[in-house]
Amino acid sequence: MPTWSDPAPCDDDEQLFECPDCGKRLCSERSTVSCGRCETEMQNLSVPRPE
Ligand SMILES: [Zn+2]
Repeated sequence: MPTWSDPAPCDDDEQLFECPDCGKRLCSERSTVSCGRCETEMQNLSVPRPE
């Protein structure tokens, strides 16, 4: 099995999250997402730029 690849580009109102434990990525409209496998809080990889 290949490692997790980037999912399709997220919609404008979605953000990309990655699980620090298993590396799973997903897009979500939520501000916080927990990995369904690890129950770990996923990191937001597409943090909005404050500029
Ligand atoms: Zn995980």
